[in-house]
Amino acid sequence: MTGLTDSFSRPITYLRISVTDRCNLRCLYCMPSQGLSLAPRKEMLRYEEIYQVVAAAAELGVHKVRLTGGEPLVRADILELVAMLGQIPGLDDLGLTTNGILLRRYAASLKEAGLKRVNVSLDTLREERFRQITGRPWLPEVLAGIEAAYQAGLRPVKINMVVLRGVNDDEVLDFARSTMTRDWHVRFIELMPFGEEESCQAINEDERFVSAAEVQERLSVLGPLEPHYPAVGGGPARYFRYRGAVGTIGFISPVSEHFCFGCNRMRLTADGRLRPCLLDDREIDLRTPLRHGATEEELKALLARAVWEKPEHHRLKEGLVPSARPMRQIGG
Ligand code: SAM
Ligand code: SF4
Repeated sequence: MTGLTDSFSRPITYLRISVTDRCNLRCLYCMPSQGLSLAPRKEMLRYEEIYQVVAAAAELGVHKVRLTGGEPLVRADILELVAMLGQIPGLDDLGLTTNGILLRRYAASLKEAGLKRVNVSLDTLREERFRQITGRPWLPEVLAGIEAAYQAGLRPVKINMVVLRGVNDDEVLDFARSTMTRDWHVRFIELMPFGEEESCQAINEDERFVSAAEVQERLSVLGPLEPHYPAVGGGPARYFRYRGAVGTIGFISPVSEHFCFGCNRMRLTADGRLRPCLLDDREIDLRTPLRHGATEEELKALLARAVWEKPEHHRLKEGLVPSARPMRQIGG
């Protein structure tokens, strides 16, 4: 086994996979409520194809994989894919990012199939607001899903909150307080200039953007935040903990303080393209070679090429906003 290293000497060990562009929610910053264009199902990678890519990547030293989307739990037979990937030697961290709606139903079987952890996206703790943000009245399902994941041992459970000024930013203290008594690992995420039509605009024009630094400043009224170094996961978040708290608090600031210098990941889109950087539209097609019988060696060569083409950093501050496709196809 040889490792994958990009042209800026960053080792690439993490693959995020969008398994579908479909979703059972319509978050206002992610999917349009009307006029949604979905890729035809035959264009989606089949499970055997995803397996082939991950097996080749694992041979090259990728040891962490996260399933995302769209909503990964709406794809039929997702447990089958988890079980298939769980068999691949060298993969020691198999996670899933979900909106939590179907998590109560699936948590125990996901664990049994080999999943290690879940991240649950939750932008509000208020029922009416949940409906406004997601278009559906299903906050109780998400809370039950988080509990089910915890009980099933899919830990640590991370909660992702995208902070939006004028929409949910008045809840950052409520989320922070929840970590005092609950084993929640809350991560505040900066809004990225992604989305479709109405929401896709340069971030400096987006009045909803709240920087991680501003959130951190606001949280200081609850007491000092002490740096915390998580035992599991790593990733781009900077973690803290209130003294005596059960859970932790993380800040993910892709826009205001990009962490590209330490980036260890690439992405596989739902329709089978390798995307070296979330915020850069360059991609390499894997679906066509897969459907023409590519060997593992050929897949490895394509993976290595994509890694080599990974840009040094994104260019959001220069106004270069990814526009070729929505987040849900790439896997956020
Ligand atoms: N449906 C799953 C979920 O919501 O967790 C997985 C896919 S979703 C695209 C993955 C993550 O991307 C979620 O935490 C979501 O909040 C985040 N996300 C989507 N659009 C975003 C944007 N424009 N800026 C920042 N985060 C975004
Ligand atoms: Fe669906 Fe996740 Fe996008 Fe919300 S953020 S619309 S749950 S894919």
